[in-house]
Amino acid sequence: MKHITRRSFTSLTSKGLLGTALLGSIPFAKGFTPGQNNKKLGIALVGLGSYSTYQLAPSLQETDHCYLAGIVTGTKEKESVWKEKYNIPKKNIYNYENFDDIVNNDVIDVVYVVLPNSMHAEFCIRAAKAGKHVICEKPMAISVDECDAIINACNENGVKLAVGYRMQSDPYTHEVKKYVKEKTFDDVLFVSSDAGYVSNGNPDQWRLDKSLSGGGALMNMGVYAIQTSIYGAGQNPISVSAQEFSTRPEYFKDTDETITAQFKFANGAVAHMMTSHNANGNRLKVHGSKGWFELDPAHSYGPISGRTSNGNTIEFPFKKQQALQMDDFAKHLLLNTKNIAPGEMGKRDMIIVEAIYKSISEGGKEQPLALGNLGIVS
Ligand code: NAD
Repeated sequence: MKHITRRSFTSLTSKGLLGTALLGSIPFAKGFTPGQNNKKLGIALVGLGSYSTYQLAPSLQETDHCYLAGIVTGTKEKESVWKEKYNIPKKNIYNYENFDDIVNNDVIDVVYVVLPNSMHAEFCIRAAKAGKHVICEKPMAISVDECDAIINACNENGVKLAVGYRMQSDPYTHEVKKYVKEKTFDDVLFVSSDAGYVSNGNPDQWRLDKSLSGGGALMNMGVYAIQTSIYGAGQNPISVSAQEFSTRPEYFKDTDETITAQFKFANGAVAHMMTSHNANGNRLKVHGSKGWFELDPAHSYGPISGRTSNGNTIEFPFKKQQALQMDDFAKHLLLNTKNIAPGEMGKRDMIIVEAIYKSISEGGKEQPLALGNLGIVS
């Protein structure tokens, strides 16, 4: 296991990134001394489905500032498999019933909730009440009210909260934000964003069951298109209009199949997004008044690929986004760096999701959005 080195710690403090006042007020596992950086943070994954199994657990083997310390699962058989594979002590293994006992576990610093969307709020709130910092998978919850309940529980219990927005840690996203901020292609006029895939799996899966998913493509892939529309434009939208299309109603009985939406921004820029469970889409294109740039693929696990109207490619070395994301949150906790995917960002996206569904229910009527800078992290 790698440790945060004295050199990296010194470098961060010399850059003024260490806020000791804040560090003194947030809980950490016993044996950890805030400001000393003498250990990696222990993360417990809640829900051992495909994302935990194939992305988060392998990524935790590549993180510098955290490690897989525990698991919470409702499936008894998974306990021994994960125990063996990741050398997890029995005392760090929980089920959904005894999960609250995690309050007594000094090794777990962060609880990472990776369950179906409708279960996020319950488990994030239980984790906060147990005094654990929280990472909540996207979408943050299935309503704005639930997002507020998670944010309040974290504030009341003095713990930090991040949404599992892996793209916020990806260097390609930082590059997009830089182009927009520095006006590399002059003012952004139009953003186009697609996020979808073709679902042909088990019709009984939770993603097609509204009570568990909260909605279809919009809740699942749509949040990526919302996010890219926002960082492609460099600001929050002031209104949205949306349309829904269904071509396989026998399969998508309970959830949305394809949604398109148009955003307006205060400076006159517009964005168009498409999200689908019945069409592939993985692209962001941003048009400025002096050229354009594009990511395609734009939000898969990587490598991402990009190009510009100048004939240049946008290229960065590949590193697992999830490893970068979990390290970013650990550095926020350890070194008081910026929280680049705070709960407010997840809440903002859910406000937009609700406005999109409202617009659809009102025949595409434009919905005003009063977001200010909510969820914007620069
Ligand atoms: P999954 O279906 O593979 O796993 C779901 C897990 O929840 C399983 O371990 C299952 O046993 C457990 N579970 C508990 N109660 C359940 C219930 N009532 N019905 C169904 N499963 C139940 O799903 P996943 O792909 O791992 O997604 C989990 C979460 O992670 C979702 O919120 C999803 O949006 C998010 N996710 C995020 C990304 C990303 O790129 N950030 C990628 C995939 C999934």
